[in-house]
Amino acid sequence: MTPQQKRRQREAAPAKARPRSEGKSGHLSPAERFYRTVGISTHFLPSAHGESLLDASDLVARAGFGGFELVPADFQGVIGSPTTIRNVGLWPRTFSQRERARLRDALACFRTVTIHAPHLGVNIASINPGWRAESRRQYFECLELALDLGVSTVTFHHGGQTQGFIAPEQEVTDHCIAFAREATAFARKHGLTLGYEVGSFRIIDASIRACRSRRFGVNLDMGHAVMGGLAPEEWVKRLPGKTVEVHVNSVTKDWSGFIEHQPLDRNNVIDYGAVFAALLAEGFRGPYIFELRGLDIPDTIDICSRARETLTKLIDSLTR
Ligand SMILES: [Zn+2]
Repeated sequence: MTPQQKRRQREAAPAKARPRSEGKSGHLSPAERFYRTVGISTHFLPSAHGESLLDASDLVARAGFGGFELVPADFQGVIGSPTTIRNVGLWPRTFSQRERARLRDALACFRTVTIHAPHLGVNIASINPGWRAESRRQYFECLELALDLGVSTVTFHHGGQTQGFIAPEQEVTDHCIAFAREATAFARKHGLTLGYEVGSFRIIDASIRACRSRRFGVNLDMGHAVMGGLAPEEWVKRLPGKTVEVHVNSVTKDWSGFIEHQPLDRNNVIDYGAVFAALLAEGFRGPYIFELRGLDIPDTIDICSRARETLTKLIDSLTR
């Protein structure tokens, strides 16, 4: 049995740990499914004490999380001063087949595993054709990695303007559509589901319309949505059935502006009740991935564990 088949089997298995919320049919309730499958992104797992990717996945699994998002980069980070601490990760170009097999085995303990392409230094809509080609290459390396790891959901940042030049908006959108189409053709062939993360509504809407496939949609980052001026529940309603993944973000707003990736209890911007109600109304079942920032890996896991409890109760209350 492949790791992917093992994961599917576990997903289908009835709940044992928290039977109170099981339906009569033995299917998982939405709250139970969220609790068991929500994951943490490596983009919020800084190697502050020298942890490797395998150490980090082990810590997340031991904390009882059933989900994991891999950002295949070893050059991104979210904390650290005066210099940024690198997250756990990898560089696909030097990540051998043997290492891929080992990682695939290590990730088999999760019910949900997703890949989110790196965003630093890439722009698939760059005005520079060489830069566009390199960005596209790195995105396709994420798709190849997904096949090697048995991961079926891969999401990307769409492209944007290039610093120092103002291109027509349609030209930027067309580059994003071109990649989405190419990637969707790959996804059809290999059974993947893809999406652009929020984002520009204009670009994502146009890309989804151009692809016309259930295999291409949107990764709804709740924080990016509200900070962009369109509430996440509005994204769900305006792109019905097109959410392929959700980044559970948390945003504080004060006189200085927005601060995202906060512990959930510091959120004063996102209406989680409204977002989850919209997602549940259209039957969205995941993947959900936490993007909450901690001081190190144990702290991030702790912050995500508390958020998981809070949101599980919320979903439970919405579905009773
Ligand atoms: Zn995100």
